[in-house]
Amino acid sequence: MIKENLDNIWKKIESVCNKSGRNLNEITLIGVTKTFSSNAIMEAVEHKLFDLGESKVQELITKKDDIPDTVRWHFIGHLQKNKVKYIADFIHLIHSVDSLELAKEIDRQAKKFQRQIPILVEINISDEETKFGIESEDTYQLVKEISQLENIKVQGLMTIGNYYEDMELSRTNFKKLKSIFEELKKLDLHNVEMKHLSMGMSHDFPVAIEEGATMVRIGTALFGERYYA
Ligand SMILES: *Cc1c(COP(=O)(O)O)cnc(C)c1O
Repeated sequence: MIKENLDNIWKKIESVCNKSGRNLNEITLIGVTKTFSSNAIMEAVEHKLFDLGESKVQELITKKDDIPDTVRWHFIGHLQKNKVKYIADFIHLIHSVDSLELAKEIDRQAKKFQRQIPILVEINISDEETKFGIESEDTYQLVKEISQLENIKVQGLMTIGNYYEDMELSRTNFKKLKSIFEELKKLDLHNVEMKHLSMGMSHDFPVAIEEGATMVRIGTALFGERYYA
């Protein structure tokens, strides 16, 4: 089942790329593993899923023990400062940086582990009060401040976006994020390499890719429904 889902998702990604003039090599599929068992995750990994995303630190470090070190772990959920230390030595990319305080703690931990940690700045593009992420108009300021931290590398932007039954309704927000991304790229800031746009989930990834996503984060379409304990 998971193998078929994975095949179908890749087929869809490929067809959207062909249709919209994107290069398949630019797209990273991140399997979002929250609530799913290590067995389920292994099935996907054995069928060449190389990137996994978790939104809870505890779940991530528990599952990491069961999964080969060859996978790249992405942190995609709200990250509390006091938990950065648990993931700082191995995390491939933190998608959800939305404050200077959090960035400073990531910088501090990165230094301790003698590495530079790549991050994305999370933007609340749909302006929903319940969501994390900074407001679009604060992006430039935050990116500029984070760029001063030598143990962090800003590599792009991320957004979660609203759930719309009709994925066409996500397009405006994806376009907005892409345009902020392009503006920042033009500025060519020190220690900032705008190369990743993490947007699109199970229900709207085709539109996200059409609008420039380089990373799509997919949970239910790959692993099935989530049941929260
Ligand atoms: C859960 C989650 C996803 C995956 O959502 P699906 O609708 O299951 O594909 C993507 N991004 C983030 C930040 C998530 O928390």
